[in-house]
Amino acid sequence: MTTTERPFIPVAKPLVGDEEKRAVMAVLDSGQLAQGSRVEAFEKAFAEYIGTKHAIGVNSGTAALIVALQANGVGAGDEVITTPFSFIATATSIIACGATPVFVDIDPFDLNMDPNQLEDAITDRTKAVMPVHLYGHPARIEEIAEICEDNELALVEDAAQAHGAEHKGRRAGAFGTGCFSFYPTKNMTTGEGGIITTDDDEVARLCRIIRSHGQEQRYIHEYFGLNWRMQDVNGAIGLVQLGYLEDWNRARISNAEGLSRLIRSVETPKVREGDRHVFHQYTVRVSKDRDGLLKRLNEAGVGCAVHYPIPIHQQPIMQKLGFGEGSFPVAEEAAKHVISLPIHPQLGPEDVEYIAATVNRLA
Ligand SMILES: *Cc1c(COP(=O)(O)O)cnc(C)c1O
Repeated sequence: MTTTERPFIPVAKPLVGDEEKRAVMAVLDSGQLAQGSRVEAFEKAFAEYIGTKHAIGVNSGTAALIVALQANGVGAGDEVITTPFSFIATATSIIACGATPVFVDIDPFDLNMDPNQLEDAITDRTKAVMPVHLYGHPARIEEIAEICEDNELALVEDAAQAHGAEHKGRRAGAFGTGCFSFYPTKNMTTGEGGIITTDDDEVARLCRIIRSHGQEQRYIHEYFGLNWRMQDVNGAIGLVQLGYLEDWNRARISNAEGLSRLIRSVETPKVREGDRHVFHQYTVRVSKDRDGLLKRLNEAGVGCAVHYPIPIHQQPIMQKLGFGEGSFPVAEEAAKHVISLPIHPQLGPEDVEYIAATVNRLA
């Protein structure tokens, strides 16, 4: 019972077809190689999908976070409250603005920022709050938005894993300034790429200025900006991919339902009532010998990964912030016990059955 007959099932598998290839060739033939009409068309379509007035394309999810923070006035000396359990860019984007990340621990239910701990972390230097919709499960964003409003803080959502996730009928990225990534493993891709969503005209205007060297008029630089622009090739790919996003999200959700029905030996992910989880990752909790199981699953042809093995506050680069072990116990505990299984839309029902049977056999 090893991998002799079955091909290895990768944990992520980007889906790019002939339509994307044709769209890219058309851009190359047009001679518009930087930001142009394809980016603009993609922005319009993405804003409509999320349900916001504006979307601003940039060249990565990391760029989206940096530009969104700066457009919300985050700069040197400010504090931004975020989660310690995420990809590193969540916190390094804050540092890139000259600000300091301040962490609050996560809710064990969905591993997202615990809103009950948020108010205690607010100081007179706090400028913004940046929750993450981890794995595609929405954070308790309405409660967080309310706390932001009461305390006059900007809300920047790291929605890099949450294209199409919903909380109380509204899409992630529509509550504050939304930041998405289109890295190839995400629910849709443009190659490298990112986008910012907002209803706020002034934030949108500043994002457009900051993404292009801080200039509204050519060669007049009123703000600090760098080159964060998206290329038309990426906009063209995004426009095609966006047309498939809902089909792919539904396939992810259906694969997750299948896995959760069949898996018995580990704790399967929960979905809060009224929320739509779009399963960027399908992450289970393993009570013992997580690293052993990770190895055995990969050997049995089920690609899996740990998101994330080290909480951000314990990363070598964050040592100067001075958080020791035990600072955020729920995040530290999660980092020791989680495994993400394959969930991508290219899995067939027999793959889902094989993944579940293998987990049940090996865990
Ligand atoms: C992917 C990701 C990012 C960064 O996006 P890039 O496009 O890789 O720069 C930021 N935050 C989270 C939570 C992510 O998953």
